[in-house]
Amino acid sequence: MQHKVIVVGAGLAGSEAAWQLAERGVFVHLYEMRPKKTTPAHHTGAFAELVCSNSLKSLDAATAAGTLKHELAVLGSFVLACALESRVPAGGALAVDRETFSALVSQRLSTHPGIEVHNEELTDIEGIRAGGTPVIIATGPLTSDALADNLTALIGQERLAFFDAAAPIVEADSLDRERLFAQSRYDKSGADYLNAPMTQEHYEAFIHELTSAQRVILKEFEGADLFQACQPVEEVARCGLDTLRYGALKPIGLTEPKTGRRPWAVVQLRPENKAGTAYNLVGFQTNLSFSEQQRVFRMIPGLEHAVFARYGVMHRNTFIDAPQVLDRSLALRADTQIRFAGQITGTEGYVEAIGTGLFAALCTYAQLLGKEPPRLPKEGVLGALLAYATDPTVTDYQPLHVNYGIMAPLDPPIKRKRERYAAYSKRALHAMEDFRAQQGHLSFVPAYEMPSLQ
Ligand SMILES: Cc1cc2nc3c(=O)[nH]c(=O)nc-3n(C[C@H](O)[C@H](O)[C@H](O)COP(=O)(O)OP(=O)(O)OC[C@H]3O[C@@H](n4cnc5c(N)ncnc54)[C@H](O)[C@@H]3O)c2cc1C
Repeated sequence: MQHKVIVVGAGLAGSEAAWQLAERGVFVHLYEMRPKKTTPAHHTGAFAELVCSNSLKSLDAATAAGTLKHELAVLGSFVLACALESRVPAGGALAVDRETFSALVSQRLSTHPGIEVHNEELTDIEGIRAGGTPVIIATGPLTSDALADNLTALIGQERLAFFDAAAPIVEADSLDRERLFAQSRYDKSGADYLNAPMTQEHYEAFIHELTSAQRVILKEFEGADLFQACQPVEEVARCGLDTLRYGALKPIGLTEPKTGRRPWAVVQLRPENKAGTAYNLVGFQTNLSFSEQQRVFRMIPGLEHAVFARYGVMHRNTFIDAPQVLDRSLALRADTQIRFAGQITGTEGYVEAIGTGLFAALCTYAQLLGKEPPRLPKEGVLGALLAYATDPTVTDYQPLHVNYGIMAPLDPPIKRKRERYAAYSKRALHAMEDFRAQQGHLSFVPAYEMPSLQ
């Protein structure tokens, strides 16, 4: 009997998952609500529509974004192959003609004999899987309201977020440690935080730039709900010169070792991972444009040359609390026949969505064969991202794209950044090739070469 799987959402993740399963002989029911019902960001009824930029970021294997593409080529990604076929010149980046790209994906899925497309909104996950058919939910950051309601019933209201209000994350080795000091407030729980001390003069200059910097104006965030729940740092600063000094930048309980005194104000940096390779700017959720975040936040002592692994963002983003509800195979811990893929898992970015779609398909296929779902190597960028996204010790989960800040450290460590990044990339690609070789039962589709940089 032919196995069946339901895939919900024909965006980047769902398209990849559907094709990977169909190519392995699984019959796929693919549900896509557009164009009958659309989202606030999509404009067409085509599959894998890119809602914003037409760039899938760098091809350079020495960057995390580039390494991710090379890993996906090793696994034979379908959507990435369509992107390469629709490529337009964009220096070292993979940019596509968005219409050609979506048309290719749509045409190949719609004509695949192993895929039946259902052009309708799916609103009841349990209802559709009579008989226990496995499901992959890939409905993205703009999941329809009716399905979001259904998901809250499935996983609990507190496990689904509707807005993304994230503070920036900076790479640890871009920080000037001479200007920072390690200490937890009142010396509680060790010296986990890094602290950036500010003098009165420095603080006031910072507040001036913060409150006059250019913001991204998003109409849907003008509502009181969001601002009461998670005020952007620049909005708080606008309430009065000292407001932040009594809030996120309060110096109480902190002593600067160089002066032996409490600073006027302190920006705290909290480690993002156990290895301490990336730090979160505590309380700095923001709506400033990315270029302004770079300009203004680099005024913070010790952050003059900060490299941003992620900028702060505020936008509509439906995502689940993956570390608390999903296992390593992206399945619900409470029901391992239901998987999530794409941005709804809290992983962020076009190519990350393609990657999680591919991995969810591999895990579902393994399960159909009666095998354990595979584990991606954590030395790879996709494996490292998924290890973070499904790590139950992660609290206050915020969306993240691939970056070298969350990679397992190299042994021995490499100090020079260029060499370190090249080593991460080399290690990642070896690990993915080994993974493919060891998991022969997963019937991989052919791998392909990524183009070299031009
Ligand atoms: C406004 C905006 C701009 C963005 N810009 C960028 C960018 O420039 N670069 C970048 O890398 N990332 C960007 N992102 C993130 C981007 O959405 C994701 O990277 C990527 O599209 C996620 O892929 P996905 O497959 O998870 O979701 P999507 O590509 O959004 O696909 C989800 C699909 O599910 C369908 N769907 C939803 N609900 C249902 C339902 N109930 N039943 C049936 N179908 C349903 C939708 O119609 C959609 O086709 C942006 C996101 C937003 C919201």
